[in-house]
Amino acid sequence: MNRWETVQADFVIVGGGAAGTMAAIRAKELNPDMEVVIVEKAEISRSGAAGRGMDALNNVVVPGHGTVEEYVEAVDIVADGVLQPDITRIIGERSFGILKRLEQWGCRFPRTPEGDYIVNAFHPKGRFLVEMRGDLKKILAREVSSLGIRVYNRHPVLDLVKSGTRIAGAVALDLGTGVLKAFLAPAVLLASGGAARIGLPNTGYLHGTFDCPWCNGEAYKLGFEAGASLTGFEYTCRSAMTRDFNGPGQSTFIRHGAWLVNGLGERFMERYDPQRMERAPAGIRMRAMMEEERAGRGPIAFSFRHLPSKVIEMIEEGIFEAERPTMRAFFRRRGIDLKRTPVEVVMSEVYLCGGHGLSGLVADRWGETSVQGLFAAGDCLANPYGFLAGAMVMGEVVAERVVERAAPGPSGHDARDRIDRLRRALERHGKGRLGVSVRDFEYKFRRLVNEFLAPPKSETKLRRFLHLTEPMLKDQEDLPARDPHEVMKVFEAKAGLFCARMAAEASLFRTESRFGLYHQRVDYPEKNDAQWKTRVILSPGPEGPVVEKERS
Ligand SMILES: Cc1cc2nc3c(=O)[nH]c(=O)nc-3n(C[C@H](O)[C@H](O)[C@H](O)COP(=O)(O)OP(=O)(O)OC[C@H]3O[C@@H](n4cnc5c(N)ncnc54)[C@H](O)[C@@H]3O)c2cc1C
Repeated sequence: MNRWETVQADFVIVGGGAAGTMAAIRAKELNPDMEVVIVEKAEISRSGAAGRGMDALNNVVVPGHGTVEEYVEAVDIVADGVLQPDITRIIGERSFGILKRLEQWGCRFPRTPEGDYIVNAFHPKGRFLVEMRGDLKKILAREVSSLGIRVYNRHPVLDLVKSGTRIAGAVALDLGTGVLKAFLAPAVLLASGGAARIGLPNTGYLHGTFDCPWCNGEAYKLGFEAGASLTGFEYTCRSAMTRDFNGPGQSTFIRHGAWLVNGLGERFMERYDPQRMERAPAGIRMRAMMEEERAGRGPIAFSFRHLPSKVIEMIEEGIFEAERPTMRAFFRRRGIDLKRTPVEVVMSEVYLCGGHGLSGLVADRWGETSVQGLFAAGDCLANPYGFLAGAMVMGEVVAERVVERAAPGPSGHDARDRIDRLRRALERHGKGRLGVSVRDFEYKFRRLVNEFLAPPKSETKLRRFLHLTEPMLKDQEDLPARDPHEVMKVFEAKAGLFCARMAAEASLFRTESRFGLYHQRVDYPEKNDAQWKTRVILSPGPEGPVVEKERS
């Protein structure tokens, strides 16, 4: 891991998920001469949160079914009033265009007998969810390839390169050869997803998480260390997951009208949000689940018995064919038949995500952070509940900005300082003086997340979390990593710990309760709109993170 190489480009994209591939495609369409490079940790035809496929575009403003204003209002409800609406509005305006592009490329959008898209309700207000089928990532990868975009698969990005105050590139590790590669360009897009491995899952498996486990907040850490700000880190998400199955379900179940029932067979959302029931904002639904469990009324399950067979078949088709084919075998082996059997769900671990929550890099309406030339899109951007369509819209928006700016040619920076710094770090990991495996290290801080950071929160618990994890910041530099794959794991764990500590800092700062379960403070149990209807911003400072309310 001592050798290094340089790759010159015009636009470097970190992460070839939904946002990254779409950004690359758009940039190349607008300027075929532009050297666009995707640097991806895995393999783009199957990587990221949408790796297997998705059974819906959760947020599309379909003409005749909703308006952009209604969409922004719906997201504002989920964000509990803490919304900077610029990016949400753009997503609303351009989401139907994304649907049309995907349809043209071969994604299938089932229609009603009248020939209309199937548009369902998932948000607390309005109808913005469109049923979708097809192998999304393979389709995106094919478009990337047909445009001649250079893709470096199995190259996790470990560091960013700056030239003065502006971005100059990114450094990745070739997992196959161990060569460090500096990708130099005047524009870099961070599109490497959210942070999945923050809390410890119910299954006990480090990678058995709700969100894509290979995305572990590296973009948040890289962006922050380069000088960008973060927001929404006190919005510590948890979702409902099918017990013992690593995959989704709740959005599919809810939009088709499944009921959440407790162990007594009661439709318990009546107690917590009688108007919106299962369509209550996620944080309220999760708080309801937790309170039912605490009161001894678990286990919690989705019940389908009241639904017509046609609807159940639609649910099965979406999950089994598009999103999670292994679920069919899982249900069969467990004897689960949706027409008769409820599906037990558990609460997922804590995670941080822009597309599924509020956490992300702060950027302007073109996705540019406060570091010139450094952009963010998708789950690593603060694009509240942007989901898939939001990731792809912002990928396109960033690409358009980069092409419009186009200061082509090499950045003139050689990245030697970053390479030297990385080499020293890798050498130290090679010695591995800590003598604790990265797996045990990660297990330890994630156990602490469950105990002290997962909601309900309090000042005492949050301070305890920061205190107990402080020595780990030093320890992590001596984690053993003897091959490129272990190096990747170490960098993932470091990013996870960084994100968890940022979440504790932001959670301490917001001295009120908001977002249902997600920021429930037992020492400040009330919502305080007068003081706190604003975003919490974390910025890098000379002595550590500076936490403050957003300046208007
Ligand atoms: C279980 C689940 C179900 C969902 N269902 C739906 C749905 O039905 N409809 C919907 O609209 N949305 C859904 N979403 C949300 C949607 O999938 C995401 O919002 C969207 O995929 C985010 O796109 P992204 O490009 O930001 O991240 P991703 O698509 O996750 O891509 C990130 C990429 O970055 C790569 N990467 C990570 N770290 C590095 C690194 N250090 N260096 C290089 N590459 C790196 C990853 O391998 C990955 O390819 C779901 C999400 C989950 C987790």
